[in-house]
Amino acid sequence: MIAERHRDHLTAADILEAVASKSDGDLDMATVYRTLDVLEQSGAIKHGHIGHGPTVYHLTYEADHQHLVCSSCGATVSIPARDIRSFIDTITEQTGFIPQVEHFALSGLCADCAKRPTAE
Ligand SMILES: [Zn+2]
Ligand SMILES: [Zn+2]
Ligand SMILES: [Zn+2]
Repeated sequence: MIAERHRDHLTAADILEAVASKSDGDLDMATVYRTLDVLEQSGAIKHGHIGHGPTVYHLTYEADHQHLVCSSCGATVSIPARDIRSFIDTITEQTGFIPQVEHFALSGLCADCAKRPTAE
């Protein structure tokens, strides 16, 4: 399993900033959200949630990964979606339920925090 640091997420605020710097500045948050909605409905982007932070957006072809977020230090790691495929298939086989786990990050402890002693 290849886990990598994952920092390339765009929030609606990032997108507003990026677009506003190239335009006359008559953009507002509502316009950005409306544009994101249209893009998501057309299948170009997908949104997800990482911890308690803002909603993040990916291009759809980049979205086939699962986020892991550390509940202690907030570090975000991503793994390829295929690495959790068998976990999802087991749930579906046993219950008929089709989980969409990629919509939310899995929370837990990152390697560094897991190593740290909890009792001081
Ligand atoms: Zn991601
Ligand atoms: Zn959502
Ligand atoms: Zn951590």
